[in-house]
Amino acid sequence: MIYTLITMKNQRSLFLLILFCLGIQAQDSNDVILDALNLANFENGKVHKVWLGLGDNEFGNRITVPVIILKGAEEGKVLGLTAAIHGNELNGISIIHKLIDEINPSGLKGTVVAIPGLNPLAIARNQREFMDLQDLNRLFPGKPNGNRSQQMAYQIGEKIVPLFDYHIDLHTASFGRVNSLYGRGDMSDETLAKMLRLLQPDIIVSNKGKASFGEASGLTLRAFAISKGVHSITMEYGNPQVYQSEMVKRGVEGILKVLNGFGFSDSKYDLPELGYVCSKSYWVFTQKGGYLEVLVELKQIVEKGEQIAILKNAFGEVVEQYAAPESGIVIGKSTNPVSISGSRIIHLGILQGK
Ligand SMILES: [Zn+2]
Repeated sequence: MIYTLITMKNQRSLFLLILFCLGIQAQDSNDVILDALNLANFENGKVHKVWLGLGDNEFGNRITVPVIILKGAEEGKVLGLTAAIHGNELNGISIIHKLIDEINPSGLKGTVVAIPGLNPLAIARNQREFMDLQDLNRLFPGKPNGNRSQQMAYQIGEKIVPLFDYHIDLHTASFGRVNSLYGRGDMSDETLAKMLRLLQPDIIVSNKGKASFGEASGLTLRAFAISKGVHSITMEYGNPQVYQSEMVKRGVEGILKVLNGFGFSDSKYDLPELGYVCSKSYWVFTQKGGYLEVLVELKQIVEKGEQIAILKNAFGEVVEQYAAPESGIVIGKSTNPVSISGSRIIHLGILQGK
């Protein structure tokens, strides 16, 4: 009688529990470490969970990233999702975890390759940068014989990026800042514009993403993917080191719309209204040191000359007041009052056509 009440799922849990009690290690697909991914080797119409090796740690074990492959019943394009290349940017991990529960691979045309944790050594340290304090997202294409972070970037560039036709790189703000839900991509590119529109960010910053960060450093993952012919955009979902349910919900909904909009399913879709589109954006910085009070909110429209922040010294006296250098929209802002000269105040977007 009790047995008949146990569901299929519980039966498996019970089985695993018995194995555990007997000291037997259960083999599951997510115990597998691969050195390369060949999507043709994965069975159609199924979800596959594997670890991909991207170098070795100090014990000679593989440094691995988790890879979830939703292999559609029918062959088609590949959508790649990467989260947490900055190790403290976690909303994208939750977006992927929730998204995969929403997709039935037997009804999918094409494949979703999702990596919920692209920078494992940084995630373990609760930090943005790779373990040598380099920004992995400024190092592509990396170097096969380079230093630690350069080799990691190289491995990502060689083993992961070439799998994708479309790519969404999931980010958040960094420590001491908060972000609206915004996307970065080239709105003059029809495919990228459609991806961004389907994802329904509050704000889109249109740029080609091909900028290099000086001679010593390299490309972002997005710029590198584009250089390899992948349709790649970056999405910024809120704040660092937290799961924000509203951001995660909107992320899942948006990616499902991208799947519908690009033929991964037969479901109908509506192209959502276009939100704010910025032709450029930049950070406004403090000139002096002190304690910063930012006076504007995310997504607030500010006029040129409008007061955006006050800086006080240790005695509470105002040392500087800051105004918007141009009219625009607040994409992100500082939440950390402690500011030396050159600290971030707001990330200002300049609306297209203004
Ligand atoms: Zn980031």
